[in-house]
Amino acid sequence: MSEFDLIARYFTRPAQPPGRAALGVGDDCALLRLTPGMQLAVSSDMLVEGRHFFADVDPAALGHKALAVNLSDLAACGAAPLAFTLALALPRADEAWLAPFSRGLLALADGHGCELVGGDTTQGPLNLCITVFGEVPPGQALLRSGAQAGDDVYVSGTLGDARLALQALRGSLKLPADLLAQARIRLEQPTPRVALGQALRGIASAAIDVSDGLLGDHGHLLKQSGVGARIDTSIAINLIAASTYSNWAGGIISSQKQLECVLAGGDDYELAFSAPPSAREAVQAASRQAGTPVTRIGRIEAEPGLRLVDGDGKLLAGRFASFDHFA
Ligand code: ADP
Ligand code: MG
Repeated sequence: MSEFDLIARYFTRPAQPPGRAALGVGDDCALLRLTPGMQLAVSSDMLVEGRHFFADVDPAALGHKALAVNLSDLAACGAAPLAFTLALALPRADEAWLAPFSRGLLALADGHGCELVGGDTTQGPLNLCITVFGEVPPGQALLRSGAQAGDDVYVSGTLGDARLALQALRGSLKLPADLLAQARIRLEQPTPRVALGQALRGIASAAIDVSDGLLGDHGHLLKQSGVGARIDTSIAINLIAASTYSNWAGGIISSQKQLECVLAGGDDYELAFSAPPSAREAVQAASRQAGTPVTRIGRIEAEPGLRLVDGDGKLLAGRFASFDHFA
């Protein structure tokens, strides 16, 4: 199969609804139809074998994840997806790999009306780079820099299960099969919170997506906003979906490990955001509208740095001192 056969077979389709591509794959450039007056939101993310995924990962899941991590960036900005390009280095033209990869990729794309409009294909060690394009009304993009002292801190969905799966797959943790299966979906097929991001426009004061761990990523938001925060670990610890599984309670994992996964795990692709207390109703309405739960886990403070407290508001110093470099 030649490079061009491969592109034609797996990455070229007739125009897809809602038809944002005036010209898609096949020419020197793609042409996009933009809604007049909107700002274009652009983001790229690269996935490298060995670093971001295991060589034997299910190709359909990899196709999904490659686009999901990019859509998550649009979500964090409150942008609506339009289209994307795919730059792909492949060791060989393996149809048994390409067919499911393309299927997983395009299924997520279709679910978000985000059309594959072009890319590049070359022979080499497996490497995927996607650039997504979205649109947002001028001035309404959610930024990392808008958090104010007194705002509430929220996260969407669940946190920490991806890290749990990663540790189990690496062999440093033993999980029962059903628990691993659930956690593995979070690691390999994350759900970008695209609808929530758009619903939070005009409500959230700042937002970021959690790709490298809550403390680290939320730390970026705090720094760019020039503020600090206090996080209630007694609430945060329950954000891990695995905590609701019956055998979890059987003491397989310590609460320390549980909290570590929530706070410092990565690959969650949830949104961490702030909003003033006056917007609590509006945040809940956005959550319902998007069909994505959100949990209030803390408060923005003027003093820089990130403080972890227990349910009584007492500072947790010693036990989580290892997280200090995230502050
Ligand atoms: P050029 O040489 O002008 O860069 P190419 O020959 O590399 O173009 O690609 C031919 C067409 O196929 C272009 O429209 C390009 O955007 C598209 N394309 C190449 N690789 C991919 C891919 N992996 N997914 C989608 N479109 C692709
Ligand atoms: Mg060209």
